[in-house]
Amino acid sequence: MERTELSGMTRAELTEWVRANGMPAFRGKQIFEWIHRGADFDEMTNLSKNLREELKAKAVAQSAEIQTERQSALDGTVKFLFALRDGNCVEGVLMRYKYGVSLCISTQVGCRMGCRFCASTLEGIIRNLTAGEMLGEILAADRYLQKQSPGVKVSHVVLMGSGEPLDNYDEVIRFLHLLREEDGIRISLRNVSVSTCGIVPRMYDLAREGLPVTLCVSLHAPNDEIRKQLMPVARSWSIKEILEACRYYIQETGRRVIFEYALTDGINAGRQQAEELADILRGMQCHVNLIPLNAVKERNLKGVTEETVRAFLKTLEEKRISATRRREMGDDIEGACGQLRRSVITEKTGDRNDEKI
Ligand code: SAH
Repeated sequence: MERTELSGMTRAELTEWVRANGMPAFRGKQIFEWIHRGADFDEMTNLSKNLREELKAKAVAQSAEIQTERQSALDGTVKFLFALRDGNCVEGVLMRYKYGVSLCISTQVGCRMGCRFCASTLEGIIRNLTAGEMLGEILAADRYLQKQSPGVKVSHVVLMGSGEPLDNYDEVIRFLHLLREEDGIRISLRNVSVSTCGIVPRMYDLAREGLPVTLCVSLHAPNDEIRKQLMPVARSWSIKEILEACRYYIQETGRRVIFEYALTDGINAGRQQAEELADILRGMQCHVNLIPLNAVKERNLKGVTEETVRAFLKTLEEKRISATRRREMGDDIEGACGQLRRSVITEKTGDRNDEKI
């Protein structure tokens, strides 16, 4: 019998499940609280041993475990490889800021979007993550933090690991609702960012959910011609359509949109592209996050020098576009999307042996 994943349930659903399995309803609240505190059945001390054994046989409390971790010597950033129950694994990155602890989580194993610069998509998609697994990534990181820095918990979440969140729409929405359940993990949706490569119809759907999350859009180009060179999804929706959806998002939520822009040598990083970008974003309530492309071994695309970043930023600022250079964290631990998973997978298969864990 397939065991039931409890971490994806709301408190009401868990209470229902508990009742359907012949237990008193108040157990639902207890178990829900334990799960959201990262506990496994053995640790649920207010349940009898028999009950815990019964639960273990029927259900799963925690859906992700840390398989590998690498801590950056540069800035304390930690890159995790989370093991899922079916043997798949996904990445997450924990970053410590002055304002709190941010965790970047994955929403799919692999990705089917095919962006040319991205390591997560090299082998296509394997499967969607469930809401319980997404929550499980945070709970696993919280367990890690509990050992390292007691009392500290993940306070901010970005859906920027492997996968396209809006290609796994229903589970992502369910996950977002879980974050604000009573007696649950209680992460404010204002501290959550959802990043998309620009799946326009789902951007409208998200705007209508009434969830105060920040929408990040991986734009990476000031026009469709360049965008199509980098992102196959640009063949489905134009930048004009994306920006219209962003305006709608801003109007519905009152929140500014963040544009991600990976500067790629010889492709999108010149003064002309900076001016063009400023032109298309003029008057919009937005912010641009610049990041030098993280070169991926399997792709022949290159990042840019610090000077190029500065010049691009200056042009945007001159044109009154709010922009910053995204701090690159964990540069020494393969911070870029999909890289750790790939290096661990290839290590396992013996393709490479130059990596230390
Ligand atoms: N699918 C979503 C979220 C995952 S990717 C999206 O496209 O937004 C998270 C961010 O990392 C995206 O902005 C993506 O374009 C960027 N990214 C992926 N590979 C990168 C690389 N090699 N260098 C810099 N940024 C990269």
